[in-house]
Amino acid sequence: MSKATKEKKQILFALSECVPFIKSGGLADVGGALPIALNRKRSLNVSVIMPQYSAIPHTLLKKMEHVCSFDVFVGWRKKYCGINKLKHRGITFYFVDNQDYFFNDYLYGYGDYEAERFAFFNIAVLEALPHIGLNPDIIHCHDWQTGMIPALLNIKYASSSPWDNIKTVFTIHNLRYQGIFASYLALDYFGLDRHFVDSGLIGHDNALNFLKAALTYADKITTVSPSYSKEIMTRWMGEGLDYKLAERQGDVIGILNGIDENLNNPEIDSDIPANFSANDLSGKAKCRKALRKEAGLPEKNNIPVIGMVGRLTAQKGLDLIAHVLDDILKLDLQLVVLGTGDDKYSDMFREYSLKHPDKLSAFITFDSALAKRIYAGSDMFLMPSLFEPCGLAQMISLKFGTLPIVRETGGLKDTVFSYENSTGLENGFTFTNYNAHDMLFSIELAVNTYKTQKAAWKKMQITGMNTDFSWKVSATHYTSIYLGMN
Ligand code: ADP
Repeated sequence: MSKATKEKKQILFALSECVPFIKSGGLADVGGALPIALNRKRSLNVSVIMPQYSAIPHTLLKKMEHVCSFDVFVGWRKKYCGINKLKHRGITFYFVDNQDYFFNDYLYGYGDYEAERFAFFNIAVLEALPHIGLNPDIIHCHDWQTGMIPALLNIKYASSSPWDNIKTVFTIHNLRYQGIFASYLALDYFGLDRHFVDSGLIGHDNALNFLKAALTYADKITTVSPSYSKEIMTRWMGEGLDYKLAERQGDVIGILNGIDENLNNPEIDSDIPANFSANDLSGKAKCRKALRKEAGLPEKNNIPVIGMVGRLTAQKGLDLIAHVLDDILKLDLQLVVLGTGDDKYSDMFREYSLKHPDKLSAFITFDSALAKRIYAGSDMFLMPSLFEPCGLAQMISLKFGTLPIVRETGGLKDTVFSYENSTGLENGFTFTNYNAHDMLFSIELAVNTYKTQKAAWKKMQITGMNTDFSWKVSATHYTSIYLGMN
C-alpha cells in the first residue's frame, strides 16, 4: 500500500445491492454513487463489499478476478467463501461468493433462509479482512442485511487484530425492513446465547433483529434525510424502534441522498428519444409523444402525462391511489405506471388499464431504460408515499423537468417545495396528511396549473433541473462524520 493511500482513511462499504451489479431499489443507487463521490475526497479511500449473486450480469461476472477463498462458520456449518474483485469507476468492489446462498433468481424474500444467507454474508465480511489484506478504519454498513456486522465486531472480534480498531457507521435506508427472525437463530448462526436477544442488544420483542443489533452497536447511525431522522424517533413512524433511536439520538444524523447526475441527465441520456436541458426544453415534448406511443395512449393536446415509477407497496402510498383512482381518471390527464410489487396493486393497475386504455397504461416489470423514458416523457411524477426515508425518484424526475406531486414526508418534504408557497424554491405540488382526497386535490391543482399557468410551470421545471442533487453535498457530510471518528 502506498504511503499516500495509507494516510487516507480507509472506508469499507458493506451492502446487499449496488448499481451496476444488481438493483432492487434506491439502496443500490446509493451504493453505486456515494463511494465514487467519497473517493474524490483527498482524505478517503473507499472500497465496497457485497454478495456475488448469480443474477449479476454475465458481462460483469466475467470480468471479476479471484482473490482468495477460505471457510466461514455459520454456527456449526462450515461454508465455502470465495472473494472476487472488480475495479469499477475507480472503486474496488469485493464480491462474497457462495453459490448455495447467492445462486438465486430473486435478491430477497427467502423467509427464514434469508437469516442464514445474510448471517453468512455478515460473518464473511469480517472474516475476509485478513485474507484480502484490508484494514479499514471504518466499515459503513447499510440496512438490516449488514446489521450484525457492528454487533459481531463488538462482541466477538473487538480484541484481536486486524479488527480491534475498526469503527462502524450504520445507515438506515428503510426502518420498516429490520431482518426479524426467530430468537434461537442467534445461537444457531452466530453462537450468541439467548441473553443477547432477550436483553434487547440484538433483539426486539423476543426475536432476533439485525437492524436493532446495529442500532445498539454501531458507533454512528445515519439515515437518508433530515426529516426522516426526526420522524423515526416518533411512535407513529419508529416501527417499534423509536425508543432505541431516541436513546441514540446524539449519534443519529440525517443526510439527504444524492443522485448520480451523470446517469440522470436528460442532456446526455441515451435511453430517451430526445435530449433536452433547462435552456432548451423542446426535446421534452418529443419524449412525451414517444412515451404516449410506447404506452398506447392517444396523443392529446394540453393534457398532461403523469408518471409513476417505483415499488408497488403500501409504503409508496398506493392505498391512497386505490381509494380515488376512479376520480383521478376523471381528470384531464393520462397516467403511466411502471413498477413491481404486491399483486393487489399490480392487479389494480392492470384492471384499470383495461377499463381505461386511453387514460392509464401500466408496465408491471422492472426496466431501468423505460423508467428513464417515463421520467423524461411525463409532465408530473406522482409519489404520495406513506413514508419515504429519502426517495430518489422525485429527485430524478425533477432533473428531467417533471414536477413531483408528493406527500410531505421524509426526503420528499426535504426536496419538493409546494407551488402554493411562493418561496422562490417551488418545484412541485405537496400535501400534508395521508388522505386520498388531499392527494386528489393536489393532482387537480397540478393539472390546472399545467393547463393554465405555462410560465409558472416552466419556471418550476427550470428550478428543479438546476438544483444540485449531486452526491457532492452528501459526501461532504459523510466525510466529516468519518473524520470525526477516532
Ligand atoms: P425505494 O428505494 O424505496 O424503492 P427510491 O425512490 O429511493 O425508492 O428509489 C427507487 C429507484 O428504483 C429509482 O431509481 C427508481 O427509478 C427505480 N425503480 C423502482 N422501480 C422500478 C422499476 N419497476 N423499473 C425501473 N426502475 C425502477
